[in-house]
Amino acid sequence: MNLLEEFETISAIATPLGTGGVGVIRISGDKAFSIINKIFSKEVAEAGKIYHGWISDNGEKIDEVIILPFKKPHSYTGEDVIEIHCHGGVNVVRNILNLTLKNGARLAEKGEYTKRAFLNKKLDLSQAESVADLIHAKTADFAVKSARNLSGVLSKEINEIKSELFETLSRIIAGIDFPEDVAEPDYQYLINNFEHSLNRIENILNCAKTSDILRQGLKIAIVGKPNVGKSSLFNALLNLERAIVTDIAGTTRDVIKENIDWGVAITLIDTAGIRESENIDKVEGIGIEYSKQSVEDADLILFVYDSSEDFTEEDRLIFNLIKDKTFIPIANKSDLPASGTDVPLFKNDVVNLSAQTKQGIEKLKDRIKQIALNFSSEDTEFITNKRQQECLYKSKQSLLQALNAAKMNELQDLISIDLKAALLALDEITGEVITDEILDNIFSHFCIGK
Ligand code: GDP
Repeated sequence: MNLLEEFETISAIATPLGTGGVGVIRISGDKAFSIINKIFSKEVAEAGKIYHGWISDNGEKIDEVIILPFKKPHSYTGEDVIEIHCHGGVNVVRNILNLTLKNGARLAEKGEYTKRAFLNKKLDLSQAESVADLIHAKTADFAVKSARNLSGVLSKEINEIKSELFETLSRIIAGIDFPEDVAEPDYQYLINNFEHSLNRIENILNCAKTSDILRQGLKIAIVGKPNVGKSSLFNALLNLERAIVTDIAGTTRDVIKENIDWGVAITLIDTAGIRESENIDKVEGIGIEYSKQSVEDADLILFVYDSSEDFTEEDRLIFNLIKDKTFIPIANKSDLPASGTDVPLFKNDVVNLSAQTKQGIEKLKDRIKQIALNFSSEDTEFITNKRQQECLYKSKQSLLQALNAAKMNELQDLISIDLKAALLALDEITGEVITDEILDNIFSHFCIGK
């Protein structure tokens, strides 16, 4: 987006395209009022008033609507905004959008409303990012947590840490600039302050894993050698569920994934999907290769073996891959007579089940839910995304250097350099310091109309 475009008046459909009670078209920018006054049956002049009338195109009535006007800076974007609430049909909202475009607006880019809200200081960057989280939340719980960030929970904590660091930096600089009037802060003071701020940063970072799981869902991979019943288990688990949220087309060609909402968002990954499209006879031990890929990514592993067959070397190799991860051992095909061979001593209880008769599936589901809930209830005070986590890591690294330097009584001039770097990294979270590239990257993940 170039600077000139930034101040153009934009318009977009704010509600999902489909049939519904109401559809909303939103116009934002200096021309918002003049545009609506060209197409609406009454003069729209006052903010905070609701206008009822007709949208028309050259005398042709398009729809009966309600108009909500906002005057800058008291709007979502901080600009003049007109919301047109019309009937919620795909073509009626499109007709009205086209009419606004014909009369002087341009189609908004992805996330442009929220971007303008950020540029006009209606939201800081972490709050703007929480808007995307809120819209895309896979579970009710994550939506609530995103709303907390929208209300400023993360920003407040970051700003408080920044104030602490800034106070220390000011004292160091005063000591350097006015050595005769102001004493340098003593090193123990610096150490105490740096440790305190580091603890607060650590506290936010401790929630990072949970944040990722809440945002993306708990990744569960079904792992095992060919023919032990992975696909059957995948289907059995999904068949139980009416609450499948969406199908995700596999990122790699053949991995099959499904999303489930069990209170925690769960992404179930069937590694057998890969095998099915390959020549099964081709490679002995092919299950190991496939398992490796999924194991790396997964938060929880369902390790499946066939209890009616011997536990083979291939089972053992796959087990060795996963044994240090969080896993549930599953003895499948329990409807068949057990082979009776030794299996390794697992650290977790084995779930005996039959993916075919579904016996034991409910028990497995309960175990999965319990583990998923443990994952997501650990630390959820602060929800962060990857970008914010990277900024926090950067800030932490700089602060650690400052702390070590303080412990070694280094020149305070040098310490101040690390301290400034720590502050800059925190500024990036809230958006005080940010490049166009990062901004564009953030808002390109929004949808048009948001
Ligand atoms: P995968 O290669 O690990 O995905 O295994 P599949 O799910 O494709 O199953 C391999 C074979 O085992 C199929 O013929 C299934 O019908 C069968 N199978 C899977 N689970 C069970 C089970 O619990 N009991 C019995 N008797 N057969 C099963």
